[in-house]
Amino acid sequence: MIPLAIPDLSGNEGRYLQECIATGFVSSVGPFVSRFEQAVAEAAGVDHAVATCSGTAGLHVALTAVGVERDDLVLLPSLTFIASANAIAYCGAMPWLLDVEASSWNLDPLLLERVLRQECQQVEQRLIHRASGRRVAAVMPVHTLGLPADMMRITALAKAWQLPVVADAAAALGSRCQGVAVGALGADLTVFSFNGNKTVTTGGGGAVVGRDPSLLQRVRHLSTTARPGEAYEHDRIGFNYRMTNLQAAVGCAQLERLSGFVAAKRRIRDRYAAAFRSLANRFRPFPEPAGYQSACWFSGGLLAAGDRVNREAMQAGLRAGGIAARSFWQPIHLQEPYRQAPCTEQTVSEAIWGRIVTLPCSTTLTEQEQEQVIAAVLQLLA
Ligand SMILES: *Cc1c(COP(=O)(O)O)cnc(C)c1O
Repeated sequence: MIPLAIPDLSGNEGRYLQECIATGFVSSVGPFVSRFEQAVAEAAGVDHAVATCSGTAGLHVALTAVGVERDDLVLLPSLTFIASANAIAYCGAMPWLLDVEASSWNLDPLLLERVLRQECQQVEQRLIHRASGRRVAAVMPVHTLGLPADMMRITALAKAWQLPVVADAAAALGSRCQGVAVGALGADLTVFSFNGNKTVTTGGGGAVVGRDPSLLQRVRHLSTTARPGEAYEHDRIGFNYRMTNLQAAVGCAQLERLSGFVAAKRRIRDRYAAAFRSLANRFRPFPEPAGYQSACWFSGGLLAAGDRVNREAMQAGLRAGGIAARSFWQPIHLQEPYRQAPCTEQTVSEAIWGRIVTLPCSTTLTEQEQEQVIAAVLQLLA
């Protein structure tokens, strides 16, 4: 079976892990944690990073650090992984689900502007969603599939409405917009995941990055049980969300090879795109608007609406040929826990989510294996 996406742990991972064992530094105190944080910050184009035990935990503390509280609303695209919405719910807040743009599959800035203008009002320094009476507390763009959202327009709107921005960049480390690295695109905080299926992995883990040292200090404080000093004295309800030295050791080894991993992912994407060009609109590559450089977390395609080969048929056909292929996120507004969440019309997300097929795209995928996948897809659609 050609797998969908498996990690490449053939660098210094084993050596660094062995170092943890030899020195006894296996927990959240240890030299690899700070080394990892420095490397993540650098790769993201900012000065500060806090490593966390998962991307979800990173999102939760990031939202808490920018002031999201119980009963608030947080604006985000409905086309995302459930963890984006769950992190909001962990704050006691509720997602406000917007549609995505067809050109990027990311949060639609025009729609964001429309709901801020038409559905909210300022009441004594607070932005209130008129229909629910809830305070709007933050905007959370998601860099879908590793492609940065239109942060120029989103952060301009957020600034005008005085809303903090927490970017869910779970799979977007290594991506850029107009040459600017993903952490420096204007969000107050940017959150990465290092889960096993992400391009860079620590087994499980995450990181919160940003430019404002005091905000990152708050993130660190919240993720380490809110203990200001050595004594067992805690000044608020914090979390045990720190990454361990073991995970960070793997992360350090992975980050040494980040540019190679991203280059491999992009090469895989380009090869699929070139090979499927003859299929025209029947199987289109994932979007990458001009000026953007996606980290290409996943590769695959969008089947045409009403094509006689639907997603299930394609997945089954590929699986029969020993090739892993998967569907992609089901939008949040269709998920049981979030059916009551405020939501715009979802023209784009509903039109595309059921037609997306992800294809094998491990950084270790050989050209020969990719040729096999391409031949199988072309045959299924012939
Ligand atoms: C992977 C992912 C997460 C969750 O990260 P974990 O490390 O698995 O908690 C959140 N949001 C998006 C968009 C993701 O792809």
